Amino acid sequence: MTTSPLFYQAGPEMPEVSHGRGVFLWDTNGKEYLDGCSGAISCNLGHGRQDIRDAMLAQLDRVAFTYRTQFENAPALALARQLVGMTDDALEKVFFVSSGSEAVESALKLARQYFVASGESQRRRFVSLRPSYHGSTLGALGMTGYQPLEAPFSDITMSSLKVSGPDFYRQRDADRETHVRRVLEETRNQIKAVGDETIIAVVLEPVGGASTGARLVDKAYLEGIRRLCDEIGCLLIFDEVLCGVGRTGTWFAYQQWGVTPDLLVTAKGLGAGYYPVGAMLCREEIVEAVMASGGFQHGHTYAGNPLACATGLAAIEAIRDEHLLDNVDARGRQLQRGLETLQCRYPWVGDVRGLGLLWGVELVMDPTEKTPFPAQANLFARVTALAKEEGLLIYPRRPLDGLAGDHFLVTPPFTISESEVVLLLERLERTFARLDR
Ligand code: PMP
Repeated sequence: MTTSPLFYQAGPEMPEVSHGRGVFLWDTNGKEYLDGCSGAISCNLGHGRQDIRDAMLAQLDRVAFTYRTQFENAPALALARQLVGMTDDALEKVFFVSSGSEAVESALKLARQYFVASGESQRRRFVSLRPSYHGSTLGALGMTGYQPLEAPFSDITMSSLKVSGPDFYRQRDADRETHVRRVLEETRNQIKAVGDETIIAVVLEPVGGASTGARLVDKAYLEGIRRLCDEIGCLLIFDEVLCGVGRTGTWFAYQQWGVTPDLLVTAKGLGAGYYPVGAMLCREEIVEAVMASGGFQHGHTYAGNPLACATGLAAIEAIRDEHLLDNVDARGRQLQRGLETLQCRYPWVGDVRGLGLLWGVELVMDPTEKTPFPAQANLFARVTALAKEEGLLIYPRRPLDGLAGDHFLVTPPFTISESEVVLLLERLERTFARLDR
């Protein structure tokens, strides 16, 4: 067979990876790449970590897999305790899974079961933002506000009520406060139109991921959404699959605004790229109601297995022991300054937004009107390919139905040093200079 049996974007032009160390990867031709997006915003500790390897091997030597209904396992208990401690508030119960999509599915199903158990089975609808990304399984896809992914499945998914979140880059309101107030009012009206009593939960990413290019909400918006959920008696679910576990400089992004959800999902960086592990955290009262009504009707074979949890535990310990949240903060500020300098040099860099080491860059044809480049220009693909030639990996997305231009994420590992941030920015500058020609 001459072509690859893998049918995802495999092509002869894709280099074969050889090995990775720290923030760098090398292909089999010896070319070096600075991993400016931590794989898929997952390898938060960089590549080739001995401590994670050792923790995994130690667990493998004991046992790799046991089923959660047959044995208590120490790594799962310890990781659950760590996660509860990291949220330091009302999220007391943990359900493990193996991916972000599974974590979102789990939260949706638990929330629905909670209302069925509470005698409110007329609640059958979720509310989520457009644009957004919540996963690829049908339930999580139904929450996703990203047209190209939704289109083939829109007739068969349980699609949520899609509302707009704040867009501080394109807002036309007089100021931020007015913008947030107007967005919240619109959301309130949309919910009222379908009936408050039909809503199970509002699902949102406190910091948008790839679909929005790290679009931020703010404190007033999150407080408004929390009030709205309380008023209509529905739950609030934060999707921190991408922005959780330290990516924004706090363990979870929502902690920067002090607004607590009823359920929280996370994955990606939890296994630091070494093993798939995700988690849903939630308030005890929800679990109690569901368990009292016959148990949670949901589960995945590999959920909470010892090897996954030992990996997650080692990743969290490394972040804590090496004070990496401080590094996320310091290197994040350095990266922000560098990206903003590039924005001044290249007028088509429309927006630079983010927190910690989660930065989004949006490219626009006209910086005043903020008009995206035509989709046929395939700018997101060109910038990624040029960056790769320059030895830099970034995480791209195409323009969004007039809601955003081509954009990409810069999300290096938490371990990145000052000089490596300089190198990242140099490679990005060379990429931009070539794109400008
Ligand atoms: N939610 C968000 C916010 C994500 O960024 C992602 C992955 N990009 C998911 C859910 C789905 O996670 P996974 O790909 O691990 O299923």
